[in-house]
Amino acid sequence: MDLLQRAISSDRRFRVVAAVTTDLVREACRRHEIGGAEAIVLGRALTAGCLLSTLTKTDKERARLELRGSGPLGRVLIDSRSDGSVRGFIQRPEEASASPLPGSIGGRIRVGDLVGSGLLVVTRDIGLENPYQGVVELSTGEIDEDIELYLGRSEQLPSALGCDVVLDAHGGVLRAAGVLCQTFPGGTPEEIGELRGSLFGGSLGDLLRQERTPSELIGFALGGEASELSTTIPLVFRCHCDPARARAILASLGADDLDDLAGEPGPTEVRCSYCGARYSMTPSELHALADELRSHRS
Ligand SMILES: [Zn+2]
Repeated sequence: MDLLQRAISSDRRFRVVAAVTTDLVREACRRHEIGGAEAIVLGRALTAGCLLSTLTKTDKERARLELRGSGPLGRVLIDSRSDGSVRGFIQRPEEASASPLPGSIGGRIRVGDLVGSGLLVVTRDIGLENPYQGVVELSTGEIDEDIELYLGRSEQLPSALGCDVVLDAHGGVLRAAGVLCQTFPGGTPEEIGELRGSLFGGSLGDLLRQERTPSELIGFALGGEASELSTTIPLVFRCHCDPARARAILASLGADDLDDLAGEPGPTEVRCSYCGARYSMTPSELHALADELRSHRS
């Protein structure tokens, strides 16, 4: 089972959150029928989402990440919640074909060219009236590096973030995990810089060649320094779509368009971008929905 673990270093200088996300990244790849380079991109982003939506003590926290890159993958969207559920997808343009696996630097596969240049939009909702939104330019397109930069600049929290996916020989997900280290308010970027050396760059991927627990990853991040472990949260890929929502999307087309759709052969399908679930309506159901809309209008 995938788990997220929070900890504070015994000297109270750092807080660390580590997540093992192998199962949820596998599930996302299965639903979206992707592997290889795409699995690395989506896996890093899903893992970062899990780490960002569990930073406060509130149970209403939610994080949305949107990478608007110019690369062949198109946009990447992630939606994660403090209960440990996360969903996400790569909005690959229709005509794009599967990307070959890019080369690696320092033991790490570089996906920046697939993501391209553009913007990272982070929306953080911690249950207050208005969610907070921050936008930064993508720096490398490696996802964790971009989000780390966002945390330092936009939220002024010196941070070190590493998220990675290790593939098996067939391009499937062997393991996925991420670690976020932050100083407490008043901490300096230099302090976090010291920490970054121990786990990031290609080192996290190297560690993941063996199965690891979140608390082991915390130990590696803190260079063996003692820490106090706190909350553990189970993580899961879960979407919030359902037949009622799919029906509402169809209803928004209007009665006339629904009748047109009903005239086409076969059932009409609504596919959820986040999880790939398909909801279908038969022509008679579409006519019935159109009639319902007309009766509401009159
Ligand atoms: Zn869905």
